[in-house]
Amino acid sequence: MEQVLIIGSGPAGLTAAIYASRSLLSPVLITGSALGGQAATTSEVENYPGFPDGVGGMDLMQLMQQQAEKLGTRVVMDEVVEVNLRQHPFVVKTYGETYEAQALIIATGVAPRLLGVPGEEEFKGRGVSYCATCDGFFYKDKTTVVVGGGDAAIVEAIYLTRFAHKVYVVHRRNELRAQKITQERAFKNERIEFVWDSVVTAVLGTDHVTGVRVKNVKTGAESVLKADGLFSYIGNLPNTQLFTGQLELDDAGYIVTNREMHTSVPGVFAAGDVQERTLKQVATAVGSGAMAAMEAEKFIADLEGHAYPERKG
Ligand code: NAP
Repeated sequence: MEQVLIIGSGPAGLTAAIYASRSLLSPVLITGSALGGQAATTSEVENYPGFPDGVGGMDLMQLMQQQAEKLGTRVVMDEVVEVNLRQHPFVVKTYGETYEAQALIIATGVAPRLLGVPGEEEFKGRGVSYCATCDGFFYKDKTTVVVGGGDAAIVEAIYLTRFAHKVYVVHRRNELRAQKITQERAFKNERIEFVWDSVVTAVLGTDHVTGVRVKNVKTGAESVLKADGLFSYIGNLPNTQLFTGQLELDDAGYIVTNREMHTSVPGVFAAGDVQERTLKQVATAVGSGAMAAMEAEKFIADLEGHAYPERKG
């Protein structure tokens, strides 16, 4: 029986692990398919305090992992396939093991929203990517397309210009959503060309991507951009499929929490992007991760000698 089990290894999960370890709860953290979550796929994190020169997303996450392990977290490289929150202790099944836990911290984050156009699925891994940090290197002196106008799209478009000689940014409006400092850098970058008011309607290719079809949403005109790769950054969807029907979710599928990260089930806490709709940042994720761990500690202490609290609703 574990005291605290944490699902997810992004900034929220690893911070919860650091705090739960320091509370001597010997947490077990199940990483999910890759260590570090979305933050680890970010080329450069420039706004996380303490790193005046910025820090690579993967480097930052490896530091958090080292810190959690050093303090007593057992980090398990595995994926959760099923949870049962209807009974207490909660039951969490992974590919490799079945765990029971007094308290659960869910930090499963978000996954990229798909474009949903012909060719996207077919060319995944053959020119279609959702991670410039992972795949940018393969586009040395080539042409890439980035879709989206938020922080992720613009930060990663700038990153891709380290390799690609040309980066088209296809955005459905004529104004970006990304932070102003990032926008300015992109506008000054001669390798970036913006394709405004446009959406991708198809990914084209043979063995590998050779281009994308784009449509101007104002004029309806269609054209083809020749390109060797497409990086899509059109936002994210919460990873909450495991909890549907067991936890209260909002209309967009995010876990509903109160200010102390309590979910609708006593003893189950959620932290990071999986419950954050407003500001998805490493800085906000670590804050909610810390809060979730401290509340889990209180929950376990209150449970001693008492019955599991009655559920509302
Ligand atoms: P986002 O901020 O939600 O931006 C998504 C972009 O994709 C928007 O420009 C949106 O267009 C566009 N889009 C959405 N659906 C589309 C569709 N079906 N077809 C075409 N375009 C579509 O997502 P994000 O950039 O992944 O960022 C997620 C969160 O992480 C944000 O809170 C962001 O600030 C944060 N983040 C921060 C940093 C940083 O601070 N350095 C880096 C990465 C991410 P519209 O603008 O027209 O809605």
